[in-house]
Amino acid sequence: APPSADSPTIFDKIINKEIPAKVVYEDDKVLAFRDIAPQAPTHILLIPKIKDGLTGLSKAEERHCEILGRLLYTAKLVAKQEGLEDGYRVVINDGPNGCQSVYHVHVHLLGGRQMNWPPG
Ligand code: 5GP
Repeated sequence: APPSADSPTIFDKIINKEIPAKVVYEDDKVLAFRDIAPQAPTHILLIPKIKDGLTGLSKAEERHCEILGRLLYTAKLVAKQEGLEDGYRVVINDGPNGCQSVYHVHVHLLGGRQMNWPPG
């Protein structure tokens, strides 16, 4: 079952630099780093540095609107930084049916190859 809102995840260790990650972008609110198991030539995760109960998109409250917008806007900035001018995909997996495995909200940025639709 999904853990409670304040359970730490592996992403806290990445934020706190307790385990290494290939960081591609960082500011005071958002951290972006390469996925350890890339599903495309470019596969980056964007996360809020402060989880604030946002284990997944399905737990979003009105107070999370600003950080959710910032995550998407940062995905655009990082896509440009990564040279994904031919396009890319952003994904948020939620809950068991969405194949969410880490309960700290995150946006996947995938590109560098043709992405297919429907994703299956
Ligand atoms: P989810 O399945 O929850 O949408 O995505 C979690 C993602 O985190 C997966 O794509 C997985 O490969 C990635 N991931 C899990 N542990 C680590 C880690 O320790 N470092 C990095 N860079 N990515 C991780």
